[in-house]
Amino acid sequence: RALLRLAGVSKTFTNMTLALEGVDLTVRPGEFLTLLGPSGCGKSTLLKMIAGLSTPTTGTIDWPASSYDALGEPDRSLGFVFQEPTLLPWRTVFDNVYLPLMLGGARRRDVRERIMEVLAQVGLTRFADAYPRELSGGMRMRVSVARAMVTNPRILLMDEPFAALDEITRTKLNKDLLELFAKKSLTVIFVTHSVYESVYLSSRIVVMSAHPGRVSTEIAISAPYP
Ligand code: ADP
Ligand code: ADP
Repeated sequence: RALLRLAGVSKTFTNMTLALEGVDLTVRPGEFLTLLGPSGCGKSTLLKMIAGLSTPTTGTIDWPASSYDALGEPDRSLGFVFQEPTLLPWRTVFDNVYLPLMLGGARRRDVRERIMEVLAQVGLTRFADAYPRELSGGMRMRVSVARAMVTNPRILLMDEPFAALDEITRTKLNKDLLELFAKKSLTVIFVTHSVYESVYLSSRIVVMSAHPGRVSTEIAISAPYP
């Protein structure tokens, strides 16, 4: 079964930089897939194309197993966690997590329970009314994850989310989020250049060669992500 299928995806930017060449990749439901490769090999470019923020020069990206949302449209919803938490500084933790629901037209009082539920999942119940500047880097990252998960996306995209955090915070976050994602059978595509993180977190690792990025090998891991 495939949730997402990339076939022969290449990307040449307008300045003629060839960033990706002939990438074939299948994403299966419920897996924690890591894209591992050196800086500049095209990992972010690939993630942006999956998110629809950029288009392949050649090749295709398909969602073969579309499920449908309440309006009968194919559900291709994505959550995106960037390296920089990109929280709105003048809004509370609660309202930052509310934001994607608000943009979807939901009223605050109708989604209060859902927001408190995801805040509990990332361990931030007590900080719902705090502002981003009052939180540590690791806590801000938890808010970003909560915001990306609150709409129940079919795939969660994470682009080197922990790169700016210190070692201890990163290890703790890795452990907590791994447990959470595994429990929810969330499909995750995770980008990193850390071999440690990829081995620790993934159910499958796609190794990309240096620029221009190609898939050079795939490694399946049975544990710890079920
Ligand atoms: P596209 O080919 O997809 O239209 P562009 O070449 O127009 O993309 O570039 C999109 C944006 O990325 C521009 O704002 C550009 O300044 C920026 N950009 C250009 N070169 C690089 C680079 N080497 N790394 C990251 N961003 C870049
Ligand atoms: P990674 O995420 O693996 O570090 P990127 O996807 O950011 O790699 O970049 C892949 C290559 O494409 C790099 O050589 C980068 O400079 C180039 N690149 C990225 N974005 C653009 C852009 N908008 N315009 C031109 N070149 C870009």
